[in-house]
Amino acid sequence: MKYFGAHVSASGGVDNAPRNASETGATAFALFTKNQRQWHAAPLHAAQIAAFREACALAGYGPAQILPHDSYLINLGHPDDEGLAKSRAAFQDEMARCEALGLDRLNFHPGSHLNRIAPEESLDRIAASIDLALERTQGVTAVIENTAGQGSNLGFTFEQLAYLIGRVADPSRVGVCIDTCHAFAAGYDLRTPEACERTFAEFDRIVGMRYLRGMHLNDAMKPLGSRIDRHAPLGAGEIGWECFRYIARDPRFDGMPLILETPDEARWPEEIARLKTFAAEA
Ligand SMILES: [Zn+2]
Ligand SMILES: [Zn+2]
Repeated sequence: MKYFGAHVSASGGVDNAPRNASETGATAFALFTKNQRQWHAAPLHAAQIAAFREACALAGYGPAQILPHDSYLINLGHPDDEGLAKSRAAFQDEMARCEALGLDRLNFHPGSHLNRIAPEESLDRIAASIDLALERTQGVTAVIENTAGQGSNLGFTFEQLAYLIGRVADPSRVGVCIDTCHAFAAGYDLRTPEACERTFAEFDRIVGMRYLRGMHLNDAMKPLGSRIDRHAPLGAGEIGWECFRYIARDPRFDGMPLILETPDEARWPEEIARLKTFAAEA
């Protein structure tokens, strides 16, 4: 079974996210469980948690269809001790929020070395940050998202993702989310079924498909290998529809949230409907 949806708004309360997703015809959704541009958030109280669970049950969304995303402020590979401690505390809070909401995975960007420490040292800090969060929570998988490699962001090669998994104490609670726009920007071709075949074979060889816990389906505004993170609507960028048809038809992407982060919200119902049509062809 394929689960398609978009990263929807949770403004006004986390229980609004499943309702917003439902309106687009989605069978999956992503959300921020707190304001993604602020460090602090009031803890979720029992009524909000119950409302979220009820709204998910009503719309038919289970944990395998939901991919929460952490705050953009968090840098788990931060070069400074103070910045690192702040990020680690915020990440642990995000993991705990997911646990409280009954969610089983949290999607996050690995981190950035900010050109102040070696990439390897930053990666080691990220792995230690993941360990700390896993020690303090239960039942939530830390899902590392590949990046476009813009600036000093790490996690843009499959080797870096594999390095992180290899360093974490309990790899059974670590997963990966592949963002198609980020992969393409990082130099992994996805423009034809043959290119997709090669890219996912490389992913399987270096990381392992068994770690895949979700996908971000985005077209790319910038060319292959640009290292620039600019999402485009599906079919309106440099990647093109063939990649999304390939993913929709391939059973290796079954049973996980496949999430649009495309810029034009008005197109989501149409993008989701088209993905469903591709899946039905399989
Ligand atoms: Zn992301
Ligand atoms: Zn993404």
